[in-house]
Amino acid sequence: MKKLTEDEWRMKLPRQRFLVLRKKGTEPPFTGELLHNTKNGMYVCAGCGAELFSSDAKYDSGSGWPSFWKAVGDGAIEMEEDRSLFMVRTEIKCGRCGGHLGHVFNDGPQPTGKRFCVNSASLDFRDE
Ligand code: FE
Repeated sequence: MKKLTEDEWRMKLPRQRFLVLRKKGTEPPFTGELLHNTKNGMYVCAGCGAELFSSDAKYDSGSGWPSFWKAVGDGAIEMEEDRSLFMVRTEIKCGRCGGHLGHVFNDGPQPTGKRFCVNSASLDFRDE
């Protein structure tokens, strides 16, 4: 996939998706379109279409953002230390296009104990 410039991303993506994926924005909790989606299928990057999370790993964390206890495979997600807002968190990004997805925390369910906390705006859903 060709690497897009920020201006190209701005033209390609609807405004809210652009602000989340390319400017590391956060959608307000309990507003995301996919928060309560319970269908079987695949959650893909809204920027580039890469497969990120299976519906099998989705759970209701109560946080107000779509939450998953694992990614679809090694390399699907990139992680980076995020020291913004006076916290140390682990940012998660699409492994293919680098789009910002959200953060991962260590308070998720077993077997991984991880909570991938993802903006709905950075995801598209593909029905099975
Ligand atoms: Fe992507």
